Amino acid sequence: MRLILLGPPGSGKGTQGAWLSSRYGIPAISTGDILREAVRQGTELGKKAKRYMDAGELVPDEVIIGLIEERLSEPDCAKGFILDGFPRTVPQAEALEELMNRRGWPLDAVLSLEVPDDEIVQRSVNRRVCEKCGRVFNLLTDPPPPDGKCPVCGGRIIQRDDDNEETVRARLRVYNEQTAPLKEYYEKRGKLIRVDGVGSIEEVRSRIEAALKQVAE
Ligand code: AMP
Repeated sequence: MRLILLGPPGSGKGTQGAWLSSRYGIPAISTGDILREAVRQGTELGKKAKRYMDAGELVPDEVIIGLIEERLSEPDCAKGFILDGFPRTVPQAEALEELMNRRGWPLDAVLSLEVPDDEIVQRSVNRRVCEKCGRVFNLLTDPPPPDGKCPVCGGRIIQRDDDNEETVRARLRVYNEQTAPLKEYYEKRGKLIRVDGVGSIEEVRSRIEAALKQVAE
């Protein structure tokens, strides 16, 4: 199974991607998580990416494309993968298409999680994440444990630097301008499946399961 999760920041890609990953036994690859880890470790990539991330802007295409090519070359991707947060621009989608064609990897589907802007802002400012494994919590609907430690891996639960209202609104603008056109890109290729992303995690999950019934395993 090779899937792309499309949707604005905070639409549930990370949460649903983690479940899909265990359901299909394939990695969920989040370019945002890879970049945040690089920032944490202070690598060259991290230094380059941080100022774009803090401003809610996109890291340049050539940086991200190089990063994803490297990640998709790892052996755990041979059987399939779920992409969360990539591609985000038409040039990224074209580079991915070229790479997948080269390897003879068909794309099964692009799931677009549809969530209105106002709900995105509410979700993002209340979002908390484990800095180690990326598990997502929400102060209102799925609060983290009082000790601030991740129940999955024991990592520290934090608020992302870019989950403040101003940056969230900037990220939404960037999404609507640069990433939303990918819906048309994949619709033309017959790959786009729109999924209503409003509701509980379980409700959205069952809509995804129903949508994926149309797709070969
Ligand atoms: P995310 O965790 O997916 O919301 O990504 C957090 C930030 O990382 C974004 O606001 C961008 O600055 C950067 N980023 C992640 N994925 C990409 C991508 N595919 N292209 C460009 N920038 C990205």
